[in-house]
Amino acid sequence: MRDRDLYSKILGISAPWHVTDVILDMPAGKVEVVVEHRGEACCPKCGKPCPGYDTRRRRWRHLDTCQFETHLVAEVPRVSCEEHGVVQVSVPWAEGGSRFTALFESLVIDWLKEASPPFTASSTRPPIHATSYSDGMPLHPTLAASLPEIQEACRRAGARALWAFGSATSDRWSPLTSDFDLLIDMPRPLPDLAARFLQLHRDLGRILGRPVDLVSLHGVRNPHFRAELESTRLPIYAAA
Ligand SMILES: [Zn+2]
Repeated sequence: MRDRDLYSKILGISAPWHVTDVILDMPAGKVEVVVEHRGEACCPKCGKPCPGYDTRRRRWRHLDTCQFETHLVAEVPRVSCEEHGVVQVSVPWAEGGSRFTALFESLVIDWLKEASPPFTASSTRPPIHATSYSDGMPLHPTLAASLPEIQEACRRAGARALWAFGSATSDRWSPLTSDFDLLIDMPRPLPDLAARFLQLHRDLGRILGRPVDLVSLHGVRNPHFRAELESTRLPIYAAA
């Protein structure tokens, strides 16, 4: 398939990894690139080929491609090494434990170094339908249940405020397909801004157990998107 070849090239995927599917979700403005490991797997610690143990489904946020929010998804093998036990093989596109591809992380850090970082990953999305706090919509139950933990993560990161927006504030949220859209206000200048931003993004994903899209308020340049955000966002955290 041509799109598989295209995405292999865009993402720099090479053997033993193969792009097996490209799933386009037009309404959500997302593309999911499914990557599979084929052949012998090696222990990441000693490099020896080892028998397979099982696989774990993992997901990484990549740079947008053709204005689509792009995610990599892979069943990552775990191998059983005689010396190192059961270990997950490393993937060439991301650091262990990261929810972003390495290229995405380096770009976010570059953006955040700019005076006014254009972190507009979500600004190309379809419009958010109006559902708001003032309509009496309760906060999404998963968000509500994790509120103290989320607030603590925001405090640690030095955030000024955090809001939910998009499907997490409406009944369109689906436990199968939706992620959480969160809007963050970080004070500037702030030492280690990029590291704080990325750490908070990881913490929120861990707390919520779902992919999280963390959009920086400073990066929202599109006035219509910004107005929409301001009328539909639900407050989650505000610094004292
Ligand atoms: Zn080993």
